[in-house]
Parts: sequence; C-alpha cells; structure tokens
Amino acid sequence: MRLSIIRCRLAGNILAMNNYLFQIIYLCKFFEYHNKLSELKTKTLKKDKVNIKRNLEDEIPEVDAFFCTMELHAILKQFEADYKTELVGERFLATPSHYAYLKISEGCHRTCAFCAIPLMRGGHVSKPIEELVKETENLVRKGVKEVMLIAQELTYYGLDIYKKRMLPDLLNRLADINGLEWIRLHYAYPSKFPIEILDVMRQRDNICNYLDMPIQHASNKILEAMRRQITRQEMEHLIATVREKVPGLCLRTTLITGFPGETQDDVEELKEFLGKYRFDRVGIFTYSHEEDTSAYLLNDNISQEEKERRAQEIMEFQQEISFELNQEKVGKTFKTIIDKREAGRYLGRTEFDSMEVDNEVIISGDQKLNLGAFYNIRIERAYDYDLEGIVEK
Ligand code: SF4
Repeated sequence: MRLSIIRCRLAGNILAMNNYLFQIIYLCKFFEYHNKLSELKTKTLKKDKVNIKRNLEDEIPEVDAFFCTMELHAILKQFEADYKTELVGERFLATPSHYAYLKISEGCHRTCAFCAIPLMRGGHVSKPIEELVKETENLVRKGVKEVMLIAQELTYYGLDIYKKRMLPDLLNRLADINGLEWIRLHYAYPSKFPIEILDVMRQRDNICNYLDMPIQHASNKILEAMRRQITRQEMEHLIATVREKVPGLCLRTTLITGFPGETQDDVEELKEFLGKYRFDRVGIFTYSHEEDTSAYLLNDNISQEEKERRAQEIMEFQQEISFELNQEKVGKTFKTIIDKREAGRYLGRTEFDSMEVDNEVIISGDQKLNLGAFYNIRIERAYDYDLEGIVEK
C-alpha cells in the first residue's frame, strides 16, 4: 500500500476522486495508463462520485486508494494516523522561510472556454477565514514576512461558504496579524471584481499595492469567444477605477495569443490596449487546445509557430513599456526584501514585484545583508525587467 501512495505523490498529488480529471492526467503521464484512463474518463464523467471512485478502483486495481483532494481525514485513516486538530494550519515550507504562498481556495466556478481547471479541480471551495488566519499566524511565527494569496480565482472567495464575497474581510483579518509585512494578491478575475478590495488595499499598509489580474485579451470578439464575461470597455472602466482608488498600484496581467479565430487585427488591438493602459507586468501564454474544454469545439486554426510569433511580438512591445516604467524609478527609494545572494550580489524585490515572475532588484555594494530582511534601496539604474540600487544609509 505504501508504495502506491508514495508513487502517486511523486506524480504530483495524492489521488483524488472529486477532482478526478486532474489526477487522471497525472496518472496518465506517470504510470502510462493513458488509453485505459481516457476511456474511463469519458465513462465516468456522467456518474456520481461514488461510482467514479468504484470505476477507478475496478479499472486500476494496482492503485491502493483514491481520495478527494479535501479528504484529509480519509487519507490519515488510510495511514492509521490520527487527525490532530492542534496541527490544523501547520505547514512545512517549501519556500525560503521569509515568504509563503497561501492558497485560499481550490477549484473554480468560472467558465473560460480555454481552461480545463474547473474540470480538473472541480468547483470553487473556499477555506474558512479562521483556518487561513491560523495558518498565516503559524507561518509568521516561523519567520514568514510575506504571504502571496493564491487561488484559481481569488475574487470568488467566500461565495460558496459565506454566500458573499469575503476577500475584503479576509484581507482585513490577515492585515491585523503582527509581523506580517506584505500581503500580495494573485489571480483576480476582472468580471464582477469586488471593488471594496481596493479600499482595504489603500487603508492597510501591509497589503502590497500590487494586483495580478489576468485579462487574457482585449479584443471583444476574442473575449466573447473565450467566455470571459467581460468586455474591453468594462475592463477599461475597471482599470481606471483600480488606479484611481489605489494610486501607484502595480498592475500585473497575463494574456493568451493564438486563441481560435484570433487575427493579426486582434493582436494589433491587444498591443494598442497595452500601450494605452501600460500594465506594469505582463506574462504571455500561447493557446493550448485542451480536450473537454468548450474551446475544444472550435477549430484550433493557428499554428504553434504563429502563436509563438504573436506572443513574441507582444512581449517585445511590452518590453519597451517595462523599460520606460522602470526608468521612472531611478533616483527613488523602495523598501526591498532580500531574497537571495547570487554571483556575489544580493537580489531582492519591492512591493511591486512577486517572486519568480516579476522584476528583481540587484543590490550593489559589498556590505553584508540579511536574507529575508527589508532594506531601503535607492535605485541607480534600470533595465527592461530589473532594477539596480544601493542600500540607503
Ligand atoms: S482561467 Fe481562471 S477564472 Fe477562468 S476558468 Fe480557468 S481558473 Fe477559472
């Protein structure tokens, strides 16, 4: 029994039942059960959870146990371990000790045409506020100074368990935690964005002026085909509101190129939009034709090469914007967290930069700095995606 469960963990997750597609994909890759599982996936989609589990057990007897992703009690029982309530909220950190990701919910209720996540992870399930506060307090006790709130869809938080959007309440509770210096928000869906978040962001010093809001595209034709439930005009209004309510906020977004039916005119419109709204950070993906998504019914009519060319064209356009925005920072001082030391230099981030995906601040000079500590860094040089500065005395 132990062997199977350990191997499943290596495959990426403990086997799940209610999120069975995701797990099946992992299994397919890891155990080469592809054909058997594809068949099974089609058969089981229409059945209830119990039947799905039974089917999986029958079809893949080599696997010892199947669990839902939220079935911690059952997993522990399988290992004959006790559920210790005093350990709720305890975590092993896989990141350096000064920052941590805080997953506030699982799954997603949205219906974006290109996205397989709702199929893989199921509908949105929020973690209760009390649990998240406890988890964060424990993290802070271990030395964490920055938490990055993540979810497939952040703004939906609370609607399932509290029957109302509760992200502002959660943010206020987290911002009250002593010693927590930065709270950062990732993946906020633009449609029906809860504007009150912006008030909390402005009022609370330890919520970073940073918002990651994936817009995916700017052409109404493509937004509609993507089923994003928002128009270009509504996004324009939202961006203006965000910037008015939180002046100086760093806006990050992600885009997709090569969605079925996208033309060069749509790409031009997207560039025009980026030029007008000058996002601080942009990430780009090329469209991937995923089985069982609604976009799978469309003709994936753009070659991978062309998708990549369009992504490159947009990135080059954005690179100029990023360079100009970075130049504006030269001569200014920013509170900076020190993440690591590399090639004899320290690398850090301002509140406008998330780990791995955004700018880094290169700190020159030979003074010794403490990893995970904050320093005021005066920016002396700026590049396309990075800044360079010195510790201000
Ligand atoms: S793209 Fe994001 S919001 Fe849309 S369905 Fe996927 S996870 Fe949900």
